[in-house]
Amino acid sequence: MTYPIVAYGDPILRKQAVAVEKDTDVRKLARDMLDTMKLAQGVGLAAPQIGQSIRLIVMECRTHLGEGCKDDESKKVLINPVLKVDTSVALTNYEEGCLSIPNILIEVPRHEKVFVSYFDVAWRFHEDEWAGLPARILQHEYDHLQGTLHIDYASPLKKRLIQRRLAKISNGKVNVFYPMRFPSDKL
Ligand code: ZN
Repeated sequence: MTYPIVAYGDPILRKQAVAVEKDTDVRKLARDMLDTMKLAQGVGLAAPQIGQSIRLIVMECRTHLGEGCKDDESKKVLINPVLKVDTSVALTNYEEGCLSIPNILIEVPRHEKVFVSYFDVAWRFHEDEWAGLPARILQHEYDHLQGTLHIDYASPLKKRLIQRRLAKISNGKVNVFYPMRFPSDKL
């Protein structure tokens, strides 16, 4: 099954997500999140974006996207990820989108290389080193677990420019091809 994606304005996107209790079976949830990500043509999705405030991320991770990913693991599930960044390498800027904030691209500085530890769906522990796009995707999704959004990186001018569009998204007035859940739906 797939979930509607939680739209900007929902308080869950601003909450710090809680750790998943060890040995919890999240395989069905992770599969559903991967299906939701595919339907929305995204490259990453964090659990708060489907309305669950837990530390769970799904994402694309393929060799051609950057270092540290193998071809046979094009989709990754990360439970309780812990992220460390390599601050010796300069930040790179790139325009990011967000499935919860459709049609708003923001230039976000990210670390080129990250060290990540996490559990997979079988609760095996992993420690990886990623670079390039997977590292960027991971930093974006990890931000979601902290209640941080890509718009938080926008300049004050850009923030002013997108204010009305953000209000529209919260009110469900947005052109989007995948199902979403808007704060205004709750009324
Ligand atoms: Zn996002």
